[in-house]
Amino acid sequence: MTEPGGGADIGTRRETAPRSLVVDAHVHAFPNEIIASRTTLVERDRWFAHLYVNPATRLSNADDLLASMAVAGVDHAVMCGFPWSDPGLCRTNNDWMATVSDASGGRLSWLGIVVPQHPSAANEAERCFALGAAGIGELNADGQGFDLTANGPLRALVGTCVAAERPVGREYPGKGTATPDRLLRFLANHPDLDVVLAHWGGGLPFYELMPEVAALCRRVRYDTAASPYLYRHDILRVVTNLIGADRILWGSDFPVLGQQRFLRRTLETDLPADALSSILSGSTQSTYRLPISARILEGRGA
Ligand SMILES: [Zn+2]
Repeated sequence: MTEPGGGADIGTRRETAPRSLVVDAHVHAFPNEIIASRTTLVERDRWFAHLYVNPATRLSNADDLLASMAVAGVDHAVMCGFPWSDPGLCRTNNDWMATVSDASGGRLSWLGIVVPQHPSAANEAERCFALGAAGIGELNADGQGFDLTANGPLRALVGTCVAAERPVGREYPGKGTATPDRLLRFLANHPDLDVVLAHWGGGLPFYELMPEVAALCRRVRYDTAASPYLYRHDILRVVTNLIGADRILWGSDFPVLGQQRFLRRTLETDLPADALSSILSGSTQSTYRLPISARILEGRGA
C-alpha cells in the first residue's frame, strides 16, 4: 500500500485522542492453494470465473489481509466466505477460515459459507458455528443458483441460523436478480432471521422511508462494502440519518477497496463521534457478537 499521508493521519489521531476501535465487517481472503489453483477454479465455478477470470483482479491471502489491517489501523476484520456452488469447496473454505481465525490472535472472525439450497446446508452451518463462525455468508443467489424468493429450499438453513442467533450475510443486492422487490420477499419469508445486506443493500435503505418496508427491514443491517465504486460518499451521512448508525456496518470488501484510504475517508465524514464509532465497530460487534478482547485494544496502545 502506498497512500502517502494516510498512515501519518491515522497515527496523529491516535496520539491526540484514542480513536474508536475499527472493525472491518466485510473482507475477503483465500487459502494459498485456492490462489494457486485459480485457473482450474475458473473452469470449475461459474461465479469464481465471473469475478476472477481476469488475471489482473487481485486475490489476497491471510497475510496480505493482516498486513493491510496493520497499515490501515483496522483492529479486527470479518472474513466472508466465497459463495462457491460446490458444498465440498465450501467445507474446505470453512475449515481454512476457522484455522486462520484461531491463529490470528483475535484479529479475524469469519462467516461460514454453504450452498443454501443444498441438503447439507443446515448441517454445515451448524458445523461452522461449532467451529466459531460469527454468521453465514456471503450468500449469492446468482452465483450459487438458488431462488431468493422461494421459501422451502432455504427453510432448513434459516432455521439453523435463527436458532443459533447468527445472521446471514448476502452479497450483491441490487445487482443481478437481487433487486429490492425480491429482497423484500426474502425478508417477508424469513421474519426472524437477522440479515446483513452488502453494498448498502442495493439502495434498500432509501425504500425504508416507506413504513411497510421499514417494518420488513427491522432485522436488516447494511454494510458499506465497495461503497466508493457504487455511491457518492454522501451515502454515509444520508443513510445514517435515514435508519441510524447502529444498523450500518463499516466494511471495505478488501481487496476490492484499500482499507487505509477508505478508513481515512470515513473518519473525515461529518458525523457525530458516537455515530462514527457505531459504524466503525459497535454495529458489527453487536451484529456478529464478536469476541474482541482487551488484548486487541492493548495491542494497539489505545
Ligand atoms: Zn464481498
